[in-house]
Amino acid sequence: MEDSEALGFEHMGLDPRLLQAVTDLGWSRPTLIQEKAIPLALEGKDLLARARTGSGKTAAYAIPMLQLLLHRKATGPVVEQAVRGLVLVPTKELARQAQSMIQQLATYCARDVRVANVSAAEDSVSQRAVLMEKPDVVVGTPSRILSHLQQDSLKLRDSLELLVVDEADLLFSFGFEEELKSLLCHLPRIYQAFLMSATFNEDVQALKELILHNPVTLKLQESQLPGPDQLQQFQVICETEEDKFLLLYALLKLSLIRGKSLLFVNTLERSYRLRLFLEQFSIPTCVLNGELPLRSRASDLEAGVARGIDFHHVSAVLNFDLPPTPEAYIHRAGRTARANNPGIVLTFVLPTEQFHLGKIEELLSGENRGPILLPYQFRMEEIEGFRYRCRDAMRSVTKQAIREARLKEIKEELLHSEKLKTYFEDNPRDLQLLRHDLPLHPAVVKPHLGHVPDYLVPPALRGLVRPHKKRKKLSSSCRKAKRAKSQNPLRSFKHKGKKFRPTAKPS
Ligand code: AMP
Repeated sequence: MEDSEALGFEHMGLDPRLLQAVTDLGWSRPTLIQEKAIPLALEGKDLLARARTGSGKTAAYAIPMLQLLLHRKATGPVVEQAVRGLVLVPTKELARQAQSMIQQLATYCARDVRVANVSAAEDSVSQRAVLMEKPDVVVGTPSRILSHLQQDSLKLRDSLELLVVDEADLLFSFGFEEELKSLLCHLPRIYQAFLMSATFNEDVQALKELILHNPVTLKLQESQLPGPDQLQQFQVICETEEDKFLLLYALLKLSLIRGKSLLFVNTLERSYRLRLFLEQFSIPTCVLNGELPLRSRASDLEAGVARGIDFHHVSAVLNFDLPPTPEAYIHRAGRTARANNPGIVLTFVLPTEQFHLGKIEELLSGENRGPILLPYQFRMEEIEGFRYRCRDAMRSVTKQAIREARLKEIKEELLHSEKLKTYFEDNPRDLQLLRHDLPLHPAVVKPHLGHVPDYLVPPALRGLVRPHKKRKKLSSSCRKAKRAKSQNPLRSFKHKGKKFRPTAKPS
């Protein structure tokens, strides 16, 4: 919507140093959320804003935060240096991005406003040193912030004026609920607060009650997911449950989906089933288990990043099981195509689920015309050759194997738990027993299944795709030729509508 009445940055009464930074960033006008949120925030209002990554939400809270800090320093009596702004985010990567954005906006007032990220990789000693200098704004995950508050290396009770909770829905789904609540006990009674969230679910409503006072709610009329240029959404009709496994195996093994993929299922049991299934084909997989304790889960995420699951560079989201609600679909789909990166969502649908899918599409399409989830007609007959292997692998994933896999993970969590460290120091025998107990064999990995013989590759794809296997280093001319050849390995598979391109990040 081009609207001539939109309030430009220059009419918001911002400090010239902020305006200069905005100009340097090349932002000619505010995004929708910035246009609405900045004036309200400057009036001192609490805000609850539905905003997704890519909407310009970071600057929507950072600009008023910096403006208020600068105003505080420029007027009134000389104020003591103190931490006045706190930004809570769900991951280290987001903390880095938020700090970097705030710092860019503060380029011309860097001496007046200092920003620290306590979730950066540095050890806690160096973080403590940074906090001793009382930066004006502190950014971090709830666990890090809470830990500094508990150690008294960070004090907010007498100084905090502005609290931002960014990606609030993710904070909950990443298991930070308890830490968030504990953290609130260290804050003063009165402060201004902004709550940003991609979805407004019950958890966010609960948090709203806890931290916001008479907030203005901004439910902007923007689409909840990026447009089709950035995010491609497909549905795949699978006749049977077995077809879902078969299709997933073929898509991953033939590298038709590349880069990092997040697979969503509807129960924990199924996530382990899928992991054990894929591992047999040497497809590296890890389960994000919401059952594990808070700290383990937080570290699981970090371990996830180490294991290659960078939540901000997910190329594909695969709804292996149809999301239970339209909101769940949006939440899952929102894990890809973040921060201007392209992404794909592929949803597997059983014939009996088509009505339910219709409900999801209804919510997604809103006032837009045309289908949202393009039907993707995959020629199942071309991957029939994989069916025998698929069945065999499915059979190996017994209830017992799943139970053992879950048990193994829980035991590992216990062994690495920071909280149990002292307990094990006092009770070394328990530790020994647990260690002794460890080797379980939850899945039979069949190395020969890691390789896809040429005769199994669908004829239409032969020479175009490279079955997922260890790659040899290629010379640069060879790489160029291959790249040209594999522009779109899926083009032989027809579907109605747009082409389904493999993900943006070739591995
Ligand atoms: P965010 O939603 O905060 O993750 O921001 C997404 C991207 O939008 C970032 O790369 C910002 O640099 C960019 N951005 C934020 N505000 C504006 C604006 N007013 N004009 C153009 N780009 C912007």
